[in-house]
Amino acid sequence: MMKKYLVLILLTAGAVSLSGCRGRNVRRFAGTALGTTYSITYVGAPDKGLPDEVDSVLRMVEGEFSIFDSNSAVSKINRGETAALPPDLEAVLNLSQQVSRLTGGAFDCTLHPLTELWGFGHQGRKQVAPASVIDSVKRFVGFGLISVENHRIVKADPRVTLDFNAIAKGFAVDKVSQYLEGKGIADHLVEIGGEVMACGTKNGRPWKIGIQTPTETADGALESDYVFGLSGRAVATSGDYRNYFESDGVRYAHIIDPSTGRPKQSKLLSVTVVADNCAAADAFATAFMVLGADGSKALLDGRLPYGIGACFISADGKSFRIERTENFP
Ligand code: AMP
Ligand code: MG
Repeated sequence: MMKKYLVLILLTAGAVSLSGCRGRNVRRFAGTALGTTYSITYVGAPDKGLPDEVDSVLRMVEGEFSIFDSNSAVSKINRGETAALPPDLEAVLNLSQQVSRLTGGAFDCTLHPLTELWGFGHQGRKQVAPASVIDSVKRFVGFGLISVENHRIVKADPRVTLDFNAIAKGFAVDKVSQYLEGKGIADHLVEIGGEVMACGTKNGRPWKIGIQTPTETADGALESDYVFGLSGRAVATSGDYRNYFESDGVRYAHIIDPSTGRPKQSKLLSVTVVADNCAAADAFATAFMVLGADGSKALLDGRLPYGIGACFISADGKSFRIERTENFP
C-alpha cells in the first residue's frame, strides 16, 4: 500500500505542471522564495531587470509572512512585539477569516501552536503529541480569539499565534502577477511551489496547465494526462504527501484538523482548486483537505465565492479515485 502511495506522491506532488514555454517571445526565469521554487513565464520584450524586481516582491512577502524569519512581521506579532498589521497581512487575515467562516472553521491560521506542537512549524521534532497537551494548546487556538481593530490585531490571549503557510504562497503568486500587470506584462504565468496564476495568453492561446495523475511507473511523472487551458484564473494544490512523518505505522501529515487539533487522517491525498485569485485557491485547497472530498463537495454544491472549483484525488483501496466539480476545467 505504501509503495503505491509513494508513486502517487511523486505524481501528484507537482500536481500542476506547466507546458509551452517555447513560443516566440516567451521568456522564463526561476528562483527560490518562501521555502520553495518559483518560475515566471511571460510574453513580450526582454526585461533584464525583471528577475530582480520579482525577487524583491517575493522578499517583501517573505518579510511579512514567513514564520521561519524571526524578523518577519508575523514573527513579531507572534512574539507580541507589535500588534500593527501591515496592509498585506491585514488583507490576508481578512481573507483567512472569510475562508474559515465559509468552511466551518476547517481553515484556521491561528492553529500555529498546534503545527509547532506536532513539529510542522519552524522548530521542534515531528512527533505524536499527547492528548492532554493538545487539549491545553487548543485553548489558545481559534479565529474567535482574535479580531482586527484599526489595523491592529487584538488577541484574547497573548499565546495566540498566526501561521499563514496555507495561504502565503498563493498570495505571493497574486502579488507577482499584479506586479507584472502593473508593468504592462499582461501575458504571464506565475508559479510558486506549484501554485499558479495564468493571465492573458501565450501567443493567443490560453496557458496550458496539467494536473499530474498517478500512473504505475515513475516515468509517468513526466507526463500529465489531464491538461487544460487557463487564463485569468489561479490553481493551487494541497496534499498530505510532502510534509509528514510516520509513527507506529500511522502517517501524520502537516494539515491539521482544527476541530481535533490533530493531523487530518483521510483517504484524500490531494486537492487542486481553481479560483479567480491564487490566495483563495490556496486557502480553500487546504480547507478541503480538512473537510475531505464529500464535505468539500457539499460546500461546493452551495455557493462559494471566487469561482471555486476543485479536483480531488483519493486513495481507493489499491487504486485511487479522481473526482472534479462541474466548474473545474
Ligand atoms: P498548504 O500546503 O497550503 O495546504 O498549507 C499547509 C500548511 O498550512 C501547514 O504546513 C501548516 O503550516 C498550515 N496549516 C495546517 N493545517 C491548517 C489548517 N487547517 N488551516 C490553516 N493552515 C493550516
Ligand atoms: Mg493552501
